[in-house]
Amino acid sequence: SPPKLYGSRRTNSAGTDLSQVPVRARIAKALAEFDKARPIKASAIINGKEMGGKAEDVTSPADRSRTVGTIAEASAEAIDSAFTIAAKAQGDWDRRGGMERGAILRDMADALEGETDRLLALMAREAGKTLPDGIAEVREAVDFLRYYAAEAEQKFAAPDRLPGPAGETNHLGLKGRGTIVCISPWNFPLAIFTGQVSAALAAGNTVLAKPAEQTPLIAFEAVKIFLKAGLPKEVLHLLPGRGETVGAALTKDERTDGVVFTGSTEVAKLINRTLAQRDGPIAPLIAETGGLNGMFVDTSALKEQVIDDAVMSAFGSAGQRCSALRIIFLPEDTADSFIDGLKGAMDELALGDPSDPFTDVGPVIDTEALSLLERHMARMGKEAKVLKQIETGSLASRGSYFGPALVELPSLDLIDREVFGPVLHVYRYKRKHLAEIAGQLAKKGYGLTLGVHSRLGGFHDSVIRAVPAGNVYVNRNMIGAVVGVQPFGGEGLSGTGPKAGGPHYLARLAAERTITVNI
Ligand code: GLU
Repeated sequence: SPPKLYGSRRTNSAGTDLSQVPVRARIAKALAEFDKARPIKASAIINGKEMGGKAEDVTSPADRSRTVGTIAEASAEAIDSAFTIAAKAQGDWDRRGGMERGAILRDMADALEGETDRLLALMAREAGKTLPDGIAEVREAVDFLRYYAAEAEQKFAAPDRLPGPAGETNHLGLKGRGTIVCISPWNFPLAIFTGQVSAALAAGNTVLAKPAEQTPLIAFEAVKIFLKAGLPKEVLHLLPGRGETVGAALTKDERTDGVVFTGSTEVAKLINRTLAQRDGPIAPLIAETGGLNGMFVDTSALKEQVIDDAVMSAFGSAGQRCSALRIIFLPEDTADSFIDGLKGAMDELALGDPSDPFTDVGPVIDTEALSLLERHMARMGKEAKVLKQIETGSLASRGSYFGPALVELPSLDLIDREVFGPVLHVYRYKRKHLAEIAGQLAKKGYGLTLGVHSRLGGFHDSVIRAVPAGNVYVNRNMIGAVVGVQPFGGEGLSGTGPKAGGPHYLARLAAERTITVNI
């Protein structure tokens, strides 16, 4: 029988074509309007109500002197009432069924898509996202909503009838687990925030969402759009704040029935321990964490294609993707010419203001991220070989800019952890050592993305077999997984699965019920 086509009742968002001059003019206008408007005053949103509170400035990573808005952290009382309201509303939300929830999610998707230009402006200002990255991010958020809507419609509308003996009926159905806590990252402040929340809602849960402390304004605006589009106010509550305060309170609470988290491996482990140690239900955790992602190239690979794909994978989004390329493995025989090509391509990268449509690389998220990268480069300067680093010039005095860098590693022992930014490490290998090198990378324990560049199937197979990875990309770049097309997520230190934007995700957020009736 033909394979089952998941998500066949939806199409991905068409996005925004930045190559069109009128489109660029429209976005420039949205930016100017955004900058002229009063700064966003964000706070917790409980039961549709903005809670206010003691506000702190949110400044732009691209320009420290620019205040994008203010944020007030969620109070302990706000968290408590969010739990109470969410628990009370969950049964009704679940009973509405997959078709009705799917329809609401589709309305949310249309509403979000309709606000694309303003969201691009906000993401450029608050998160330092370039316009092409912002466009991809809105598309991904919209795709998540429509994908999980289709999943809810297909899998949560009615229970499946199972075969059984005469005289009884057997049905297996899916239902929500209860209240799910969603903790999302700053690197995809709209897409991953929306993906987590929409999945938990689609499966019949109510949601308490804590966005990253660096990007609360985007989440605040998204929740307002969702509520206006018709999402019942009792089912989604926004609780901005720091991980140590709000995140800890949410994960410790017995009323949490499950957690969806994207961020560092360390924090994922901390959440796992917290959930295990508290009283209350045995709650599942979906964690999507970091990677130490490699791209293996052989002598049959096409040089221009490798360079293009490596530059995009390592330096796109200023390297702030967990899928980003961190180490490129080049065969000794051709390494020098590939390295020259990489250096040349780096000269073409436009580092600059993210709201300029021609910027390739914007700032990193904050000064803490910047100093971690600078410390890494200082160590690489001593223990490895810095082949090139782009100058930041006057940008450095304005925002948290870090020049994309190329570093040659004499040994893989020098890098054990994810370096979250635009640093591409090169490692030269001898063909006869390929298995050993791949094994060394595998031993680091991550398993997120893997790139392979070769015309030879045998080479693909040997690398794919040796290196664990949830997403493998052969002869192309290795970032930007598309919802429903490349379900995304890793294994080992990189996460628990199931994959976001894939057919197994909602099942983890649901409880199953078998009903047997003797007739
Ligand atoms: N899904 C993104 C990609 O494929 C990465 C997500 C992340 O960085 O957390 O590039």
